[in-house]
Amino acid sequence: MEMQKKKIEIYDTTLRDGSQGESVFFTLQDKIKIAEKLDEYGFDFIEGGWPGSNPKDLLFFQRMPAKKFSRSKLVAFGSTCRKSVVPEQDRNLRYLVESGAEYITIFGKSWDLHVEQVLRTALEENVRLIRDSIRFLIRQGKHVFFDAEHFFDGYRRNPSYAMETLLAAQDGGAERIILCDTNGGSLPHDVEEAVRQVRKHINVPIGIHTHNDSGLAVANTLAAVNAGAVQVHGTINGFGERCGNADLTTIIPVLQLKMGYACLDEGKLAHLTGLSRYVFEVANIVPPGTQPFVGMSAFTHKGGVHVDAVGKNPETYEHINPEAVGNQRRVLISELSGKSTILQKLRKYDIASKPDLIKKILDMVGELENEGYQFEAAEGSFDLMVRRALGKYRELFRVEGFRVIVEERGNRVVSEATVKVKVGKQVEHTASEGNGPVNALDNALRKALVKFYPCLGNLKLTDYKVRILHPEKATGAVTRVLIESADDTSTWGTIGLSENIIEASWHALVDSFEYKLLKDNNL
Ligand SMILES: [Zn+2]
Repeated sequence: MEMQKKKIEIYDTTLRDGSQGESVFFTLQDKIKIAEKLDEYGFDFIEGGWPGSNPKDLLFFQRMPAKKFSRSKLVAFGSTCRKSVVPEQDRNLRYLVESGAEYITIFGKSWDLHVEQVLRTALEENVRLIRDSIRFLIRQGKHVFFDAEHFFDGYRRNPSYAMETLLAAQDGGAERIILCDTNGGSLPHDVEEAVRQVRKHINVPIGIHTHNDSGLAVANTLAAVNAGAVQVHGTINGFGERCGNADLTTIIPVLQLKMGYACLDEGKLAHLTGLSRYVFEVANIVPPGTQPFVGMSAFTHKGGVHVDAVGKNPETYEHINPEAVGNQRRVLISELSGKSTILQKLRKYDIASKPDLIKKILDMVGELENEGYQFEAAEGSFDLMVRRALGKYRELFRVEGFRVIVEERGNRVVSEATVKVKVGKQVEHTASEGNGPVNALDNALRKALVKFYPCLGNLKLTDYKVRILHPEKATGAVTRVLIESADDTSTWGTIGLSENIIEASWHALVDSFEYKLLKDNNL
């Protein structure tokens, strides 16, 4: 029997700290959707927001009673009571009590500099605020966690005072004490040492909350776990103020796959990439390809030697199996990687025993690359091309024609597209508007096909790139359009080339729809 793995509690603060990120904006509905998703994955704690700080967070707690979660505990966040006030009379604490959340995290100062210069109160008064606020919330029937803000900075300057604030939290009855690297400037060995020292004086289980200002949020978190921290705070995709919070999509796989801890519910890690993309999607942010574990490029191979080696044994250039985190291996086609890349890419088509076919495809790729096609990021179009060459292409719809008009109406410019497609014997003629000509074409094509193929409902265009080839020919130059598409489980690129930018876009668009349909129908 497998030994019981040690549990690390995962505390997500995407909805509170994460929403402080410069390009992150969540509506109330977004927050509810993300919270439900995190519950599905088995996150232990979901920090929903700071009900005292803004009306949206207040509403969130009204809409999201803790009982709606099947697995996670909802946490409300706030500060200790104000100086010279008793907790019973503090408005902030009252909001926390009324939030309905069973769990409350309150933050307090553990750096003397902040107490004296920001809070502008006596050091003893700050200790009282911490202890009394926690006691008060416990009397109201809450479970209380204490975030020791700026702990590591405070501990460096005045260790005995920093420790005194933690002792006050312990004395007050906090169930977890979370050490925060609020400014993100600490180093892993200092964090590890500080956590060890704290554990000598404090009996309450320790948590860690780090920011990424030195690029060390993940490393600092792991250092704290090494020293005995049992609760990890972070955000999905590392969203957060300045350089972001500790990225849980990196920390969780490291803890589970490399350090042997248990974090998420059984089987959920294998869908982590889906969670990461879901949160990007809701936040309307294009995911950075290089994100560890869950990024589009995390298991992408381009160089010929690498591709060749990965084909022989993936372990040669992959630190884990991409499927362990729900990601996938991608092999890019490019001149750089040459023949072996294409051969690797062709493996799944089962044609190893047909050298003539392989040669035919290699020649085709070469010719198309000369014209300006580039299949590196266009695996969808590549797949369609190979299917055609192999006689395995299935036509699920046929384009009979399209038209786009762009006109000024009043003081706004409107794009309208009409497409005519044939599915089986049925002809569909649809029109749709869009915020630009390509968007209008996308909408019209979708509208025409979705009744035949409902799976198109989750198809999304995530990126659109235009490159002018041979710009010396000015407006007669060739335009290359690359479209990136995604659905709930995968992403793919398609390409179109033409002297006409609309036509190039249209080809890339149609390829994307075709690829999606063939993929979803297992054809
Ligand atoms: Zn923070």
